[in-house]
Amino acid sequence: MTKFSELNLNPKVLKAIDEAGYESPTPIQEGAIPAALEGRDVLGIAQTGTGKTASFTLPLITQLARGRARARMPRSLVLCPTRELAAQVAENFDTYAKYVKLSKALLIGGVSFKEQDTAIDKGVDVLIATPGRLLDHFERGKLILNDVKVMVVDEADRMLDMGFIPDIERIFGLTPFTRQTLFFSATMAPEIERITNTFLSNPARIEVARQATASENIEQGVVMFKGSRRDREATEKRKVLRLLIDAEGEKCTNAIIFCNRKTDVDIVAKSLKKYGYDAAPIHGDLDQSQRTRTLESFRGGELRFLVASDVAARGLDVPSVSHVFNFDVPSHAEDYVHRIGRTGRAGRDGKAVMISSVRDEKNFVAIEKLIQREIPRIDNPLGTVAPAPAAPENAEPKTDKPKRTRAPRKPKAETAAPSVAPVETDAPTAPNEATPAPAPAPEKTSSRNRSSSNRGRSSGRDDRGGNKVVGLGDHTPTFIQLSFEERRAG
Ligand code: AMP
Repeated sequence: MTKFSELNLNPKVLKAIDEAGYESPTPIQEGAIPAALEGRDVLGIAQTGTGKTASFTLPLITQLARGRARARMPRSLVLCPTRELAAQVAENFDTYAKYVKLSKALLIGGVSFKEQDTAIDKGVDVLIATPGRLLDHFERGKLILNDVKVMVVDEADRMLDMGFIPDIERIFGLTPFTRQTLFFSATMAPEIERITNTFLSNPARIEVARQATASENIEQGVVMFKGSRRDREATEKRKVLRLLIDAEGEKCTNAIIFCNRKTDVDIVAKSLKKYGYDAAPIHGDLDQSQRTRTLESFRGGELRFLVASDVAARGLDVPSVSHVFNFDVPSHAEDYVHRIGRTGRAGRDGKAVMISSVRDEKNFVAIEKLIQREIPRIDNPLGTVAPAPAAPENAEPKTDKPKRTRAPRKPKAETAAPSVAPVETDAPTAPNEATPAPAPAPEKTSSRNRSSSNRGRSSGRDDRGGNKVVGLGDHTPTFIQLSFEERRAG
């Protein structure tokens, strides 16, 4: 087995690695570090959790340890798809570069330009940025990219999902032709292949096994859920979640609860809070300081439940998450593996429980196919599907009752900053929700010409009654839909 000391890294970097407690390089590090130190382009096909951040940070620090940056001319550039990932890379950089005198700046949306301008003006060795914010600085004439010697693109597949590829191509064009490129992606979609063929020169290709299987120390389970009545489904689903959490008791020290849509992230977080659970949401519509605060309190153990969207939680490294709850079945099977991989880290045990509705069946089948195993079924804690009893224990509190019926909300784009794109979709708000989702806003389009995938995928017509067109003969009087007990109760 190769040792870090055999990789030609700067001794000061080796000291920091030693203090971080790493014993030996991971496969992506073993492959990428020597190639990067030789000055070669690197194409790393690896997912988060494989140690890929260190695989580009360590050689980058070693290479930059000599020389100094000039004002407004960064010597290296790391592009990340989300602010959270950029912040995480910056943290990694601080850890590994603590004995090397290097300067860095983090350019992410949702933070004032002024502070970032000051940092750039002083001259930075490493610029860590989201593509949108980087181009904003460039367009304001504050940044010159002619001195970039190494450019890193992290999570290129996410960049593709978020519509950032045109931005990335433009940034490639703004950096010197002679730069070295370290490019990382979990998958090689045709568009990613095209970019690498265009902008990388004879790269060392390092591929680490695709994460198709979840770690063995994660116990998995799924509740096949069907609402007793369509108009009660959303409320009942939230109740199922609460019961699943309760069933875990003290074993559930903390958890990430994933929802597919940003509106549901808000709704679920508010609903949990209302029921006395210590929960907070995180998604791209929230302002940066709130996102940072929420993440920090979750990391620090002060917040117990983080309700998250895929984009906001992607790649986040919180070492001890006891549970993951999938409130929704993710629409991409690989996201399931990513989501549940937030628990059971660093050899700990973890548990991942999912709620699968009837309409999720296709996506659920795809997940079991990908992981090549059957996810054990858990009984619906609400019992078998029956006409909804009017029993009070099944009802949400009064405040959670419908206040109004309204048309479905229009998808809201990521508005906080151009650096986070609207990959998540807003669904129509459940009509029986008392706590309103964020107000509708017109979709924001960037001044730059982004691809259509940058826009939220519309969920189409509401099937929960919002603006459903009732045709002749479609209407069923409400009393017919009630159970016998409900009718008798009046
Ligand atoms: P990443 O894939 O970059 O998100 O890294 C996942 C986790 O692995 C992070 O918590 C790193 O601190 C950790 N890590 C990175 N390299 C090593 C290593 N060689 N040995 C042990 N842990 C590592």
